[in-house]
Amino acid sequence: MGKSQELFDRACQCMPGGVNSPVRAFGSVGMTPRFIKSASGDRIRDVEGKEYIDYIGSWGPMILGHGHPAVLEAVEKAARDGLSFGAATQREVEMAELICEMVPSIEMVRMVNSGTEAVMSAIRTARGYTGKDKIIKFAGCYHGHTDTMLVQAGSGILTQGIPGSAGVPVGCTKDTLTATYNDLKSVEELWNANAGQIAAVIVEPVGANMGVVLPEPGFLQGLRDLCDEKGGLLIFDEVITGFRLAPDGAQGYYGVQPDLTTFGKIIGGGMPVGAYGGRREIMSLVAPCGPVYQAGTLSGNPVAMAAGLAQLKMLQKTPDFYRTLNDKADSFFEKLEQILEDAVVPHCLNHVGSLGCVFFTNRDVKNAADAQTSDPSRYQDYFRHMLDNGIYLAPSQFEAIFVSGAHTDEDLEQTLNAVSTFVNL
Ligand SMILES: *Cc1c(COP(=O)(O)O)cnc(C)c1O
Repeated sequence: MGKSQELFDRACQCMPGGVNSPVRAFGSVGMTPRFIKSASGDRIRDVEGKEYIDYIGSWGPMILGHGHPAVLEAVEKAARDGLSFGAATQREVEMAELICEMVPSIEMVRMVNSGTEAVMSAIRTARGYTGKDKIIKFAGCYHGHTDTMLVQAGSGILTQGIPGSAGVPVGCTKDTLTATYNDLKSVEELWNANAGQIAAVIVEPVGANMGVVLPEPGFLQGLRDLCDEKGGLLIFDEVITGFRLAPDGAQGYYGVQPDLTTFGKIIGGGMPVGAYGGRREIMSLVAPCGPVYQAGTLSGNPVAMAAGLAQLKMLQKTPDFYRTLNDKADSFFEKLEQILEDAVVPHCLNHVGSLGCVFFTNRDVKNAADAQTSDPSRYQDYFRHMLDNGIYLAPSQFEAIFVSGAHTDEDLEQTLNAVSTFVNL
């Protein structure tokens, strides 16, 4: 029995499903998770000493690759100065200033400890600002595990706020309305049916939690226009896309400005960090400035800020970082597309910048229902084959893969070769 199996057996005795976050359990690919011991650059190593080319990057944060020297150095220095004070620090000011500088729609920002917390707080702020309760979200978009956002809304329950998890009272989700991604009409209909009650529309500007689903031309601008016309806030959940597609995230990449933005993942450089921010007039309502309460014992933690700040500074000051990364990823995904096409594998490869995903389906995937038509057993075979060949992809059809600044041409090539052997099996 391998060491990962042994650890997993132990873990399952004392942790639900043996993990601290569900997708890590490898359930949807029917395998034992690899227990990871260390990582550097574009490689991770498991407890058996096996090395993999990593396309998860901790689900996005490691955009510079693992163990970037600038980030490590900042963390070590901060740790020596003190792990936590529960008091104001200079790093928090520098972090807030840098975020405001990089993302023009943000005039004020509050740091929290996860993407979930960022979304929960942004929604509270939107409700506080508008004095309205209802929120429109999209089927297939994930906004963390806060009660109000756990509405999966499969077909048939599309417009009713039915909880997608046990333990969530219907009362918590009755104000959550679910629209169809890339379908402006579905938003307009919900809005008309709930006139005068909508506080905000929240969207992943690139859907990255139902696999990768790109916004169709005009979709994001259409949401902006609807919010302006009808009087509601537009919240971009940029927990994945923030600092990933461009220095100013998907909002910069697509040229549409939200009222509020949530961040996570990259913003912490691998440490647990989230943030929400937006227009001054809205963020001024947050405590202690205003009546919208939100707090955190470890928020703005010095070590976490040091990691995030070091990573964001690298992203900001490296000339052409995003052009180089996006070009490298584009070329990788185009070659991948060619291999799948040549082998006549039914597929839809969606990608933008360094985010991408292969769906094994005949359909163009433009929303959650399209994504659901993909063949899970084919994905499972694909995942296994790649893992056996030293390539660590997302252990689920409905997750993105991430190309980082540390992926080398040789490793991308090796990855494509492994795909070729899979499709030609
Ligand atoms: C990961 C994610 C979240 C939740 O962030 P956590 O840090 O896991 O709480 C929220 N929204 C989106 C778009 C995400 O990808």
